[in-house]
Amino acid sequence: MSQRDQNPVIVIGGGIAGLATALRLWPLPVVLIAAAPLGRDAATALAQGGIAAALGRDDAPRLHADDAIAAAAGLGDPDVTRRIADAGPAAIAWLLEQGIDFDLASDGSEIALGLEAAHSRRRIVHAGGDRTGRRVIDGLIKAVRATPSIAVLEGRVLDLARTEHGRVAGVVYMPANRRPSDAVLLRGRGVVLATGGIGGLYAHTTNPVKATGTGVALAARAGAVLRDLEFVQFHPTAIAIGRDPMPLATEALRGEGAILVNARGERFMETIAGAELAPRDIVASAVFRQITAGEDVFLDTRPALGQAVHTRFPGFSALCASGGLDPASQPIPIRPAAHYHMGGVKVGASGQTTVPGLWACGEVASTGLHGANRLASNSLLEAVVQSASIAEDIKSRTFLEAACLPPSPGLSSPGQAHASLRRQMDRDVGVVRDAAGLQRAARDFWFEVNANPARGADTALVALLIAISAERRHESRGAHQRADHPRLSTTPRHTEITLTEALDSARELAESRTLAMEAVA
Ligand SMILES: Cc1cc2nc3c(=O)[nH]c(=O)nc-3n(C[C@H](O)[C@H](O)[C@H](O)COP(=O)(O)OP(=O)(O)OC[C@H]3O[C@@H](n4cnc5c(N)ncnc54)[C@H](O)[C@@H]3O)c2cc1C
Repeated sequence: MSQRDQNPVIVIGGGIAGLATALRLWPLPVVLIAAAPLGRDAATALAQGGIAAALGRDDAPRLHADDAIAAAAGLGDPDVTRRIADAGPAAIAWLLEQGIDFDLASDGSEIALGLEAAHSRRRIVHAGGDRTGRRVIDGLIKAVRATPSIAVLEGRVLDLARTEHGRVAGVVYMPANRRPSDAVLLRGRGVVLATGGIGGLYAHTTNPVKATGTGVALAARAGAVLRDLEFVQFHPTAIAIGRDPMPLATEALRGEGAILVNARGERFMETIAGAELAPRDIVASAVFRQITAGEDVFLDTRPALGQAVHTRFPGFSALCASGGLDPASQPIPIRPAAHYHMGGVKVGASGQTTVPGLWACGEVASTGLHGANRLASNSLLEAVVQSASIAEDIKSRTFLEAACLPPSPGLSSPGQAHASLRRQMDRDVGVVRDAAGLQRAARDFWFEVNANPARGADTALVALLIAISAERRHESRGAHQRADHPRLSTTPRHTEITLTEALDSARELAESRTLAMEAVA
């Protein structure tokens, strides 16, 4: 390998997207940076249901793609969806090669396939029952540790470093347990964002609380186009036992027949098409309507699973036990919680963003697969498939040596979102939205960003980008439900936005409000 080839690819994130990309980049040297020790603070470790792939005898990638397109509510990209569904079986084969063992059918001959909401076939590959994410991340970490071309650094990326022509050619990295003033510039032949989702911006979430969309902020500041940020999937059945993040009652439970009831024992999904197995947005809105009407809502696994819930869903059973509940003998309290970000940094087929030198993989990216509503178990699949395309693209490019501009001043380390921002996201940018709430949120987040003008607080910046994108979409589609625009527009369109555009819109909202208040005074 020549001296020039020694320049590493920098991968930011230690979840499935970052680990898989780092492995696929072999033999190129990789620096993998993760904010926490590998295996911690990554949504991947929490995944329960599994990974969707058309492996069954009665299944085909075309059917898998059809289901994803139907769930995506008019905004799924058919080419991307077909490509990712086609690559599903090979993605599972690759994970097997990395040493990950999936659960087998009872006769031990084939991989067992589960059913989840809105999938027309059994196609959910799982490991350790409902401990799929943990098994996958542990397997990939082991493979990464055994790959000498990958160096792992623990710390946070605070900013992207660019050349004078705007190409991303490195990162500003702060090692763990150090201050932003100790941050150093690391140069790379390219940078892959694999920083995960944004659920931590919400008070009720299933995501790690530090999942606050730092990758969206990094890309936004570099000028990247962001797409469909308003589409935040709320999981309908987060377990309401007072924990943050909220543990999840996997969709697979409803796949096996568990039902939703309110405190009066009414099965309120019975009259809705698809019942408990309707797409997530429909189930989440129905649960939310019950809650806003003052009802408590429960998941009842007893009729379908009885005592078998303990052996078939050991993770769920243990989570309930940690809250003093036994699903075999009582219904379990649930509510919707921010779960998955369909929108993100816009990428092309090879995961390249609109900024040269920058790629995005996993939940931070908007590939076009999920549209307005993700089909369950398609995100782990997407990360594995995209990691291969990204690695291939980076390997095919000639490395261009160039100096980076010095880092911008006033770098700060974004941590967890503060409690009032998280509550406001729940209230104003939550399951059901309206113009008044979205505009209030955009103004408040804009003031917060401006309180730190050197850089702007990243959590408020990402919250602002989501609020402005949601404010601009005057319809109800998939996971974006507007009380003031309940209809679906006849022409599906994506929301594309840059940081400059979002800040301009938020400033106009803030100024018009100030003028209105002055007029009243
Ligand atoms: C409870 C739960 C259950 C789920 N179940 C399923 C399922 O069954 N099937 C499915 O397909 N999907 C599931 N999902 C979704 C899926 O788990 C995620 O979409 C996926 O794991 C995201 O992977 P990722 O690699 O993009 O991000 P993550 O796994 O979240 O990893 C992000 C990484 O980036 C690091 N990071 C972030 N910012 C920085 C920074 N500035 N500097 C350095 N490092 C940084 C983090 O520390 C972390 O290591 C579930 C999600 C949750 C929360």
